[in-house]
Amino acid sequence: MEAMDNLDTLTISSALESLEGQKTSPQELATACHRQIQRLNPALNAFITVIDPQEALKSQLPSTGDPSTDALRGIPIALKDLFDTAGIRTTAGSTFFADHVPDQDAFVVEKQETDAAQPRGRGVAGFVARRRPLVSYDSYLAARNLAPGTADRRGGAGIAATVHHRERDADIGFVGARCRRCRTVHFPAQRVCYGCHAKDDFERERLSGGRGRVMSYSFDHFFPTPEPPLITTMVETDQGCRVYLQMTDARPEELRCDLAVEFVFRRIHEAGGKPNYFWKCTPLRGEPCFSD
Ligand SMILES: [Zn+2]
Repeated sequence: MEAMDNLDTLTISSALESLEGQKTSPQELATACHRQIQRLNPALNAFITVIDPQEALKSQLPSTGDPSTDALRGIPIALKDLFDTAGIRTTAGSTFFADHVPDQDAFVVEKQETDAAQPRGRGVAGFVARRRPLVSYDSYLAARNLAPGTADRRGGAGIAATVHHRERDADIGFVGARCRRCRTVHFPAQRVCYGCHAKDDFERERLSGGRGRVMSYSFDHFFPTPEPPLITTMVETDQGCRVYLQMTDARPEELRCDLAVEFVFRRIHEAGGKPNYFWKCTPLRGEPCFSD
């Protein structure tokens, strides 16, 4: 019984490890999850429709047999009641839909089910596999700005929409510029090449799909981040372009010069009620996340 109790507190990462190491089974995980719902839902009322775990497992198992396509198989999931689920009541929290049983899955549900077939490193499973788990519930509260007394970084006017629009290629697409004369790559794009001083003679160069290596790094213990320190890096990309980036999903002790990295699109901060996104680097773990 003690082992079953522990199952209630597993993160997805540790549940996957436990499944892979055959220390637990999908049946045990589903039963533990179901028992938690039964225990807490009368007070929380968080779940509207709960499927019998054995029924749910029947439709999901047996696996395809190929471990690389089964990345999240065996992990119990919950879906928001807004997404149609074929053959399962979907009410959107409204009495109007109290008896609504859709005959097909919503795109999000379909995507979830086919996600395991994504190439390794992509999709939900890939992100779960590479993510650095939060160390405590306090870290979660801080990350969600739910903890009293922590610095709230969401104030201020935020970045103007015109700036977002003007810099969208660089900020959203991670697009730099390659000099047509000497082939030097710059990020952000410049008007004058610092390699050969040619002016306004560039072509677009996308950096997001590539890799890079850490040239230099620093730990910022003062930046208000849920789990200090913030890791800042100077990365040289495959194209020889040096970019200043924050690092994510890494621990300070992993950092060294020449560390191989790839690039992920993440939220940097939130201001004026708007999130501000940009690219971060993350240690390359196995196959590249976005290679193409
Ligand atoms: Zn040049």
